[in-house]
Amino acid sequence: MSLTLYNTLTGKKEEFKPLEAGKVRMYNCGPTVYNYVHIGNLRAYVFVDVLRRTLEWNGYKVMQVMNITDVGHLTSDADAGEDKMMRALKREGKPFTLQGMREIADIYTKAFKDNLRMLNIREPEYMPRASDHITEDIELVQELLKKGFAYNTADGIYFDTSKFPEYGKLGNINLEGQKAGARVETNPEKKNAIDFTLWKFAKPELPAFPSPFGPGFPGWHLECSAMSRKYIGQPFDIHTGGVDHIPTHHQNEIAQSEAAYGTVLARYWLHNEHLVVPAGKMAKSEGNAITLHTLRERGIHPLAYRYYVLQAHYRSPLNFSWSALESAQKSYFKLLLSLSPGLSHPLPSVSNSAIDSAIAADLDTPRILATVWELVKEKKYATVFDADRILGLDIKNQSRKLLEEMGAVPEEVKRLSLEREEAREREDFKKSDEIRVEIQKAGFEVMDTDSGPIVRKRM
Ligand code: AMP
Ligand code: ZN
Repeated sequence: MSLTLYNTLTGKKEEFKPLEAGKVRMYNCGPTVYNYVHIGNLRAYVFVDVLRRTLEWNGYKVMQVMNITDVGHLTSDADAGEDKMMRALKREGKPFTLQGMREIADIYTKAFKDNLRMLNIREPEYMPRASDHITEDIELVQELLKKGFAYNTADGIYFDTSKFPEYGKLGNINLEGQKAGARVETNPEKKNAIDFTLWKFAKPELPAFPSPFGPGFPGWHLECSAMSRKYIGQPFDIHTGGVDHIPTHHQNEIAQSEAAYGTVLARYWLHNEHLVVPAGKMAKSEGNAITLHTLRERGIHPLAYRYYVLQAHYRSPLNFSWSALESAQKSYFKLLLSLSPGLSHPLPSVSNSAIDSAIAADLDTPRILATVWELVKEKKYATVFDADRILGLDIKNQSRKLLEEMGAVPEEVKRLSLEREEAREREDFKKSDEIRVEIQKAGFEVMDTDSGPIVRKRM
């Protein structure tokens, strides 16, 4: 079955055709590791994981690269403000050295990879670090200088956007709006408001990388151009990121790669919409960021968060609320329990055209989930397990684990749980809450589902 994907570059849904038969080369903009990622960032990586699984379902061998940004990303995506890694050094009282930056990056890269594992997101083949690729960045800047696309100023080397007429082609952005919003005052030597930094000269007191241009840092956008080229070549098939990358970061990646090497950077550009809170996009800088760790403290299983994300199409904004997340968790556990008869005697998987067509149509995960519930009603458990190759909810293992844990609850805790139920029936919520705390103290937790409370070991 053919696969249709929405391509931001053309503004259309298109049939996916790889450059090389049977293979897909994909690049995903990865996190800036100056802090813990928040669950909004993780929505971007659940999306990427579903995309990868979909490609594999369609028989492709996938070669995937996700960068780790540990240098050069300023607080504004348009090259203004403080370096985010420097900000982290300050926050954590580490020395202002390249070694200090490396240590911060190590901590948050490890935490990021742990988050990926908890969400059952498979690690890409390559996760290169920006700070390990300064040589490749320098080569790219040299190429741009040689070809007349770059110029020197007192604070760094800039890309001359007026030399690249196609600038702005991704998502057809409004360049006039971009120009009006750009901060020219940051450097009066900039030829055009939207010119961006390729290499920034470091202040003498700050750590820097040596380069033929002088000590400094690569501009944030450079790493993705340099590392994608190194690991999967140019052009490659698919490039992803959140929609916030469309107006600046991805325009800049395209401009510098295509100007330097004369071929397109990537053929399909896919962007996930944001996880939003009432004030807007969830963002570390907005102070409204929630981490996976916080979810776990509130008794939300990471895979229930994955279920919650899959309930929305990746191109629709998803409004965050605790109550919606709690009901997603109820549905997830209900699904795990409903599948228990299928664990011992699964019938063979049957092909299901509703699932196939949902998969083929721009990753329609809400439709796949709806179909899964119909299959559960029809007791076609094996087909559900098969569909989980795309959803990645780990339902077979988690269902087994849940049943085992529920079976291993001590009598005393079971008794408390029954008492709690009785208190709830009497609408004595004070009492039922007290018992919940007692259950927690005993190392267990009780979660209410549509099919009654579940007691299991605390996460
Ligand atoms: P950053 O570390 O800021 O470069 O972000 C890492 C990834 O998360 C990028 O692909 C962003 O586009 C994406 N992202 C950031 N905030 C959100 C959000 N609230 N919802 C979904 N994706 C996001
Ligand atoms: Zn990028």
